[in-house]
Amino acid sequence: MKKSKYGPCGLYCASCGEPTCDGCRSTEVHDWAKQCKFRQCAQKRHIDFCCFCSDYPCTELHEFMNDQWPHHWTMKSNLEYIKKNGKEKWLQFQKQEWSCKNCGAEIKWYQKMCSCGQQLNAWDLPAAG
Ligand code: SF4
Ligand code: SF4
Ligand SMILES: [Zn+2]
Repeated sequence: MKKSKYGPCGLYCASCGEPTCDGCRSTEVHDWAKQCKFRQCAQKRHIDFCCFCSDYPCTELHEFMNDQWPHHWTMKSNLEYIKKNGKEKWLQFQKQEWSCKNCGAEIKWYQKMCSCGQQLNAWDLPAAG
């Protein structure tokens, strides 16, 4: 289980399958996250989530939200949900959303089958290149 379950960009880190990263706000992050502009920018601005930034959505964030990675497409609706309902409600909702409907186990963004055998409605990874 990830130590940090979410990033300021609206990604729900708990469902990220990257084994070398403990979540955006932890100290054990993937090299990519160390260099992430959104992470650094939100820290610098003392902003919990990008939706509370006066420049939201900045051009780079907007582009990232709409790139080829399906899990990035969750960011906009996540941030809108957080702005409207608060972080705690969103976390509850995400926990439900990213649990196996059969056994309740935590599931990842691109996971096709749960350890209990339940088929999951996962996205396909984007084609390389
Ligand atoms: S994209 Fe950046 S801000 Fe968002 S979860 Fe990843 S490292 Fe954190
Ligand atoms: S929305 Fe604001 S806090 Fe988030 S990356 Fe853009 S400028 Fe930084
Ligand atoms: Zn299951």
